[in-house]
Amino acid sequence: MDLFEYQARDLFEAHAIPVLGGAVAFTPDEAESAAAKMGGRVVVKAQVKVGGRGKAGGVKLAESPSDAREKAAAILGMDIKGHTVHKVMIAQAAPIESEYYLAILLDRANRNFLVMASVAGGMEIEDVAHNSPEKLARVGIDPNVGISKEKAREIVLAGQFPADVVDQVVDVLLKLWAAFVAEDATLMEINPLVKTSDGKVVALDGKVTLDENAGFRHPNHESLVDHDAANPLEAAAKAKNLNYVKLDGQVGIIGNGAGLVMSTLDVVAYAGEKFGVKPANFLDIGGGASAQIMADGLSIILGDSDVKSVFVNVFGGITACDAVANGIVQALEILGAKATKPIVVRLDGNNVLEGRRILNEAAHPLIQQLDTMDGAAARAAELAAK
Ligand code: GDP
Ligand code: MN
Repeated sequence: MDLFEYQARDLFEAHAIPVLGGAVAFTPDEAESAAAKMGGRVVVKAQVKVGGRGKAGGVKLAESPSDAREKAAAILGMDIKGHTVHKVMIAQAAPIESEYYLAILLDRANRNFLVMASVAGGMEIEDVAHNSPEKLARVGIDPNVGISKEKAREIVLAGQFPADVVDQVVDVLLKLWAAFVAEDATLMEINPLVKTSDGKVVALDGKVTLDENAGFRHPNHESLVDHDAANPLEAAAKAKNLNYVKLDGQVGIIGNGAGLVMSTLDVVAYAGEKFGVKPANFLDIGGGASAQIMADGLSIILGDSDVKSVFVNVFGGITACDAVANGIVQALEILGAKATKPIVVRLDGNNVLEGRRILNEAAHPLIQQLDTMDGAAARAAELAAK
């Protein structure tokens, strides 16, 4: 789960990382009163979960509360890379002397964490990373060891930070690491981390991604979820504990096991080229799919008006094909008239013959069985194109 900047700011503050005052506003009125409370100059910042707001005109300095109102009115409703701005953060303005970059992230390829640090922070950091990688220190962190004071100093020196800020940046890095671990984050990025004209190091913009798999350890993270943005089908699937992602095609996909579902997406995308159709979703019903889980999955997919056909692709393992076949038949009974779209089923693996027999015997008018994944994908694509 990605956080908004104002949520990242609050989280940083809770972990004693130096930040400036910030308040969220949904209207120009709220922006004006937040700015008045803060006193003096403020920065009005679009709250969208996408980078490069500054360059897109989503970050504006305001000289007074009434100016903050005007800037907020201009920014609210703006479209930044396909994201509509529904709220702004009113942030206390800082006199910036230098902009640095500091981030900790999960490095999946190397199975550890990675710290990146640079004195060339700010809006051009991507260019810096690309064109002058020597300006971006990259240091791997063993998750079993973490970041000691010595390690933090080593990283800050590798990032070539000026002597007068080294102690403060070390302190920020240690606190950022503590926050990263405590919150089960996969990304915590500060850009820019600034030195103000009075020599203080402060985090001015934060990007945080929390690991939803660790959500059970953090009941308070629930309050950070952006319910407005969630796709209603994804929200319904989540409520039923289904692993569902909405895509923009026409062929609904159900499979058991994430790997199988991902390859099903590929096969359907390939088969669909000829017909101009694509997979409509990712849905993994997992290993032990009961009739109820199958019914839940089918009802989510059939609830998607973009879906024109459904492909159920199951490889029987621990849950044998006969159980899955019974699940499909019962699911269609549960759904009754709600099931309206053709369903192509491909069963293989454990007890496949019995599974196919059950489906043949049920002879449901919506179900078509095919024996191979490619054949079934082609049929589902063809049906979706009709
Ligand atoms: P991003 O473009 O989405 O990363 O937005 P940032 O929050 O990083 O802001 C972009 C740029 O705006 C920063 O790199 C700063 O140069 C500038 N900026 C942001 N906050 C302030 C501030 O408080 N004072 C001043 N003078 N500039 C700021
Ligand atoms: Mn930034």
